[in-house]
Amino acid sequence: MDIEKRIQELRDRLKYILDIFGPDENTNVIMLEAKLGEYVAREPGLSKQEAIRQLETLEELFRFLEKKLERELTPMNKVRIVRHPQRICLKDILENVYDNYTEIGGQDDYSIDPSMLIARAYITRRRGKKVHNQAVMVIGQEKGHGQEFRNGGSVKPWGNAKALHYMKVAETENIPIHTYIFTPGSYPIEDYPGAAQQIAKNLYEMAGLKVPIVAVISEGGSGGAEAIGLADTRIMMSHGYYSVISPEGAAAIEGRLRGGQRAEPKLIEHCAKQLKMTADDNRAMGFVDWKINEPELGARPEHYDFFRKLRKSVVSSTDEIVLNIRGMRFFRSLALRRHKGADVYVRWSLDSRAKERLLWTRYMKFRRMAQDAYLDKRHWFSRSSEWTSEFFSSLYSYFRYDLFGKQHKKVTELAEDVHAEMQVVVGRSSRYWKNVMSKLSFGKAKKDVDKAGLTSLSTWDDGALNSGKWQYVSPQAKLDRAVVCPNTAVHGCLDQWAPDLFGEWAGVCSFCGHHFPMEYQWYLHNIFDPGSIYEVFSEIESTNPLKFDGFDLKLDEAKRKTGHKCGCMTFEARIEGTSVMVAMFMGNQ
Ligand SMILES: [Zn+2]
Repeated sequence: MDIEKRIQELRDRLKYILDIFGPDENTNVIMLEAKLGEYVAREPGLSKQEAIRQLETLEELFRFLEKKLERELTPMNKVRIVRHPQRICLKDILENVYDNYTEIGGQDDYSIDPSMLIARAYITRRRGKKVHNQAVMVIGQEKGHGQEFRNGGSVKPWGNAKALHYMKVAETENIPIHTYIFTPGSYPIEDYPGAAQQIAKNLYEMAGLKVPIVAVISEGGSGGAEAIGLADTRIMMSHGYYSVISPEGAAAIEGRLRGGQRAEPKLIEHCAKQLKMTADDNRAMGFVDWKINEPELGARPEHYDFFRKLRKSVVSSTDEIVLNIRGMRFFRSLALRRHKGADVYVRWSLDSRAKERLLWTRYMKFRRMAQDAYLDKRHWFSRSSEWTSEFFSSLYSYFRYDLFGKQHKKVTELAEDVHAEMQVVVGRSSRYWKNVMSKLSFGKAKKDVDKAGLTSLSTWDDGALNSGKWQYVSPQAKLDRAVVCPNTAVHGCLDQWAPDLFGEWAGVCSFCGHHFPMEYQWYLHNIFDPGSIYEVFSEIESTNPLKFDGFDLKLDEAKRKTGHKCGCMTFEARIEGTSVMVAMFMGNQ
């Protein structure tokens, strides 16, 4: 019986290894498979003693080769590890990392979106004889070891909205947020319009959340990971991946595949390598703060040591965020040094000044993260004026938070006065240069918009529509052809003549209101007041931060073809006299 149990255990281990390395034809895996098969065939004829002796040798071989396989893991093997049903899931973490938890926002299939799990969890710590229960809001994708209703951790927009809602609750309660990222990506956008907007909303709101946020990444795929990923400290599991796109998605683009066609395994493997998605890659590029080592071939629910390590790591990360923004730097570092290693109680709620500092630190962290992702060939002067304002704000931050951090209100006021004074100086000098620049390139300086114009209701001026004179006419309007609306089957739209549709009707179906894609120039010239556009950052250039093979060539070609250095255009403009700042993607150039 005992022998049988142990053989079964080896079978399970082999099956797991086959799942991870399966298609790779690895000689170690083949050897394990053969040796186990031989033993199982031989075992009935052996004496019990001999059977146990040989079994021990076999178990030793398994341990040895598992270690070896661990060293040979490719990025794609790691992708298979994090997607394996035996991979630890969020519920395992809630059970083993926290001392107590209650799921909120609905449970299992009664949840708004069972792929997004929310729980109020507690960490119990002792100081002397006193016991402290520290509350944390835990938010993350739940894969539930392959339960179908969990949808593999692919969250729908309302699941991400639920996550945001409970982040706000945590903010109100002044408790930290721990997020756990277990997603190949959010649910495909074609099926649920609004998925991208919801993620954008989460990012926007998370940037301003006034509580510490720690994120732990296991499978961080694309925008779905970002929906809960904007954190003060980001920890990555050593066998996880974190990438802008899944390797399959990248392979579909590389292989120019359409409509559900599957890419060749070789191409997927190649992309997994090129995407620099492992914990070490992400650590080297500064996208995550540190890596937490997992047991060989990845953490599974029975690895209790790993949960202990994870607990220590999320607790000390939360402590560090709090200590870093509290009080003066000298005392902070002292406190940190004193706390290193020992489990000492640190209160996690923040006062208003610490909250301000938290947001500032988070803002600077993500700005720094983006700095190697583009090329800045702007003239030294425009760069230095930006540098000046950055310098002044960091000086301000020093005065505000470090030097006078715990002093009286008076000092705070003084610091604010100093800041206001600096703003005037910076404002004056940059305004001066802006004026010079606009005189040089556009002739006239911008006029201030008067208050009445902003506060009174605008009237619809349909002169442009009636006259049929657009500032820019789509080249599609010059084609003599009939256009079929994609909603014809639903709304019974009649075919429309291209010059009407793309000319007078501005690309909007006159039967159902469907918007056909228009060129970016159409928006540029017809939406904003003529002559009001003032482009900024036009010198900032797209680069290839991942050093993805062949991407440089594609970028060069796109730059040459479009005459733009980057696919995003940013500009100041006016719409009927109201100033706006615009960022526009130029998709169809
Ligand atoms: Zn239509």
